[in-house]
Amino acid sequence: QPDPTLRAAPRPEDEDRALRPQTLDAFIGQQAARANLSVFLESARRRGEAMDHTLFHGPPGLGKTTLAQIMARELGVNFRMTSGPVLAKAGDLAAILTNLEARDVLFIDEIHRLNPAVEEVLYPALEDFELDLVIGEGPAARTVRIELQPFTLVGATTRMGLLTTPLRDRFGIPTRLEFYTEDELHEIVTRGARLMGAPAAPEGAREIARRARGTPRIAGRLLRRVVDFAIVDGDGTVTQAIADSALTRLGVDHLGLDNADRRYLRLIAESYGGGPVGVETLSAALSESRDSLEDVIEPYLLQKGLIQRTPRGRMLAQLAWTHLGLNAPKSQTD
Ligand code: ADP
Repeated sequence: QPDPTLRAAPRPEDEDRALRPQTLDAFIGQQAARANLSVFLESARRRGEAMDHTLFHGPPGLGKTTLAQIMARELGVNFRMTSGPVLAKAGDLAAILTNLEARDVLFIDEIHRLNPAVEEVLYPALEDFELDLVIGEGPAARTVRIELQPFTLVGATTRMGLLTTPLRDRFGIPTRLEFYTEDELHEIVTRGARLMGAPAAPEGAREIARRARGTPRIAGRLLRRVVDFAIVDGDGTVTQAIADSALTRLGVDHLGLDNADRRYLRLIAESYGGGPVGVETLSAALSESRDSLEDVIEPYLLQKGLIQRTPRGRMLAQLAWTHLGLNAPKSQTD
């Protein structure tokens, strides 16, 4: 009797895993970060010591988790993964730390969202591989010190600015990830299509790369949808025509902006005359959290020169007016 769960359609995160590069050499893009990491990895390996604590920061989907996994694999150690919001109590972190083996990689995603009590426990663990735990309450409370195995913390954050200074200072290797170029994404899409067993014409892959918001995760997601259309509406090949029509149907325009991006730009244009308008106001009007505006929507619009951040709030750039097909008010074009 075949196990029906084996035939179930793969969930998106499984597909994601299949596309994840497994080695530093297979990782495309982020050249500067990769070159440095390969030196630090090699040095740690030769010394036989835990690698220094590493912090990856940058917008979501640029490869922070992937790089952390690659580090563990290249060091030949275990990879443990958790996230800031999940670690509610100091004891939660203590349980993880005391179970680490020598030189293991512990990955904490969204590390800017650590509870301060948990962060306190982390400091001596990072610095001296020691844990100071308070046992009991009131006058009977006492502190016990636990020795830990030397380990490497890899933190990831979309918001460097929200990290406390003492935490930031404890990372020997802070690394900023940048948006990918169209050429790099082209390579990523081509490789992804090959792994999915879906033939992609170079111009088809290029069309997806151009519209992926500089982000491998988005490139992977768009590729999977375009392949769906290629199978159902075409002969299974990702051509430029199929990619263009599929992406347009999905609401992804020629700059790679989606509905949420355009809603954001249109709000500033139509309700605030192009700005400046504060992020809190935008967040309320769009019913989107301020975090998601600042982490997900704005970085790419800033990078593309569609908006500007000023002390008085966000402003549309001329490019955004042109893109929306609207005329900028007279006062802004002077
Ligand atoms: P983050 O942790 O920064 O949010 P992830 O590491 O989870 O991002 O990456 C998101 C997706 O993008 C994963 O499916 C991963 O396989 C893919 N990816 C990220 N970086 C690359 C890369 N350089 N080459 C190929 N695929 C990548």
